[in-house]
Amino acid sequence: MGIVVQKFGGTSVANSQLILSAARKAIRAHQEGQQVVVVVSAMGKNTDHLIELAHEVNENPPTREMDMLLSTGEQVSVALMAMAIDSLGYKAVSLTGGQIGIRTDSSHTKARIKSISTERVKKLLDEGNIVIAAGFQGIDENFDITTLGRGGSDTTAVALAAVLDAETCEIYTDVDGVYTTDPRILPEARLARKVSYDEMLELASLGAGVMHSRSIEFGKKFDVPIHVRSSLSDVPGSVIVNEPEVVGAVVSGAAMTKDEARVTLRGIDNQPETMLRIFEPIANKKISVDMIVQGTPSKGRTTLAFTVPRNELALTLKTVRPVVEQLGGEIGECSDQVSKVSVVGLGMAEQYGVAERMFRALSIAGINIQMITTSEIKISVLVDRNESLRALRTVHEEFKLHQLPENAVTDPFTTLAKRRSRVAPVEVISRLQGVDMEGLTIDDVLLDDQQSRITFGNLPCQPGVAAQIFSAFSQGRIFVDMIVQNTDDQNRSDLSITVPRNQFREALAVANTVGGSLPGATVVGKEEIAKLVVAGIGLRSHTGMAITMFRALAECGISLEMISTSEVRVNVVVDGSVGRAGLDALRTAFAKALR
Ligand code: ASP
Ligand code: MG
Repeated sequence: MGIVVQKFGGTSVANSQLILSAARKAIRAHQEGQQVVVVVSAMGKNTDHLIELAHEVNENPPTREMDMLLSTGEQVSVALMAMAIDSLGYKAVSLTGGQIGIRTDSSHTKARIKSISTERVKKLLDEGNIVIAAGFQGIDENFDITTLGRGGSDTTAVALAAVLDAETCEIYTDVDGVYTTDPRILPEARLARKVSYDEMLELASLGAGVMHSRSIEFGKKFDVPIHVRSSLSDVPGSVIVNEPEVVGAVVSGAAMTKDEARVTLRGIDNQPETMLRIFEPIANKKISVDMIVQGTPSKGRTTLAFTVPRNELALTLKTVRPVVEQLGGEIGECSDQVSKVSVVGLGMAEQYGVAERMFRALSIAGINIQMITTSEIKISVLVDRNESLRALRTVHEEFKLHQLPENAVTDPFTTLAKRRSRVAPVEVISRLQGVDMEGLTIDDVLLDDQQSRITFGNLPCQPGVAAQIFSAFSQGRIFVDMIVQNTDDQNRSDLSITVPRNQFREALAVANTVGGSLPGATVVGKEEIAKLVVAGIGLRSHTGMAITMFRALAECGISLEMISTSEVRVNVVVDGSVGRAGLDALRTAFAKALR
């Protein structure tokens, strides 16, 4: 008999009618012969209300007490859910995170799961119960209650599905599934039938809003098929598995993070340990840094720009100010009126011209791009907050995301059915026992020494410049890999790209031609660079990971020339002569996490 985990979000248990209807869903699966574990969130906006209440008595509530308070929301729902099932004539037992044995670290309000015991849940299931588990909470080694961060019930559900080797983890929510972009923002968004973990990781972190990113990391790490569906309608929903909806599609989703802030640090001394000294204190405050763009160093000084969540701008500035002063630099223009718009697609890793299409569409719409970063499967731009919605709509339209692609899978659920019949992977389960579940997993540390860099300086910052440059590259059939761009206080921008080394000469010629047509622009090429890559799961949510990378490189005296990060990779560019040494340093630093 297989196990299914069903998770109901706050809106799906917002009142007693909804709780009864969720209870019926659990009972239906039970009647079909499955063992059912139900994970619930706090009812409706209960968590928000509890947070407000806390702030009424204390502006800065101790985080331990915050967890004590917030965990009560889920405790209410599990009890009611168990009562509802009982009233319908079936056996149910509710359990708190502590009762299940969800062990976490002690970072209150953003704890990470270390291990989950399965004995009690399994025993209750074998006795014929539906088990109702409180989402979002755990206990640390002192038996103190912890919570996993807002939206953390998804993570509880997928983690439980992993340790119980459930056939699927069903996420019941107030939307019909995963859309090409958030349909509350863009009504023309289309429901995707199938999304790959990697795309979903990028989308989830981009504020696509459907699921907690850490739950997708679990899904990918432990191969749990996740089925997102509506608790209110019978729409089949979307499945999140290994493969994408359309193999080869360049863009499969778009997203916007509205509330971003950009920090610019100017004139800082570019030493091997510079990045470490700047980002470590920020990471220690658990502020998540998103886009990072480093300008080309000149006379040993560099400009560094990065984004953080809007509400963490003040704390970020306070944290970096002393370091920036020590490094002889200053804090430049900072803005909390910026938003990030991104496109994601597994297929863009192998295609020309995706960036060009995005930049051109934005330029035709008259939208200025303030910053660009890319990863293998994502391109992000920072735009004025007032233009963010229009920017999102523009790229959604450009890549025709509202239309079902011709070669889309017709029945994504067959993949699920196949997985249902798989043999229990004993080694996965034994691997899970005693493993630090949310620990970092590194797939690979790589060196790519077959690329070159081209940097444009002093570009006019206005709509159309990026489009013009990238259209020249794509006409020249030059494959652009990394792209980073930032705008300075004087409204001029710096743009660096990497290209295959065997195309360096042609690329530089193209760059000089476009550069020549842009007043004031400079073009510099560097043939011998090395790109170092750390690929794995949980990179971005483990702020410490980039730090480990910066530290390892700093210790062997290597300065960074370009950085780009995504959910599944961190890339840095260093001088070509130190690529090997950098690779060795990173292999050593990540030896423990390499799987
Ligand atoms: N109740 C928590 C929250 O509102 C956890 C969750 O809903 O997943 O963030
Ligand atoms: Mg939620």
